[in-house]
Amino acid sequence: MMAEDEMIHYGYRIRSSYNSVNYIQCIAKNREQCPAHGEIRNERIIWRKNHNHNPNVMDDIIRQMKKELHEATELSLQDLRSIYNQIALSHPDAAAFVTFRSIERSMMRWRQAVRPPIPISLENYAEILNDPKWNHLTQYPTGRLNVSTVIGRDSSVATVIGDPHSSYKL
Ligand SMILES: [Zn+2]
Repeated sequence: MMAEDEMIHYGYRIRSSYNSVNYIQCIAKNREQCPAHGEIRNERIIWRKNHNHNPNVMDDIIRQMKKELHEATELSLQDLRSIYNQIALSHPDAAAFVTFRSIERSMMRWRQAVRPPIPISLENYAEILNDPKWNHLTQYPTGRLNVSTVIGRDSSVATVIGDPHSSYKL
């Protein structure tokens, strides 16, 4: 019999429910061939068969999923929910622990950290967008935006944003 605080570290998946009892299976069933299964009665988890692994067996895959979420949040402009859904597909076990709700704030923080600086002038705006570091912001599936600054004779400044290739199609 395991101590109760030890049991809560084991992840489970609900296999079926009957008369308000949820029948559960260890989340490491496939990964560790763990035979543990049990039930949840009155919000208490009761394992009917012991685990064949350490409760921390999921730590590595949780860490890996978080790492991929972090990278994708920095590189992709997709909304956080879509990024999460894609990565969760390839980490079904870890996703039971790393839910969107639990990781959303971290993802917002990671994304905030890679925002380009706020431009101080129009010239500076073009400089920032042309910086290779922010290339992904001007890229879209069929091309790339060209950003340039034009200074008029009256020293007015205009920033021209467009895809140079699309004009030839007209
Ligand atoms: Zn197990």
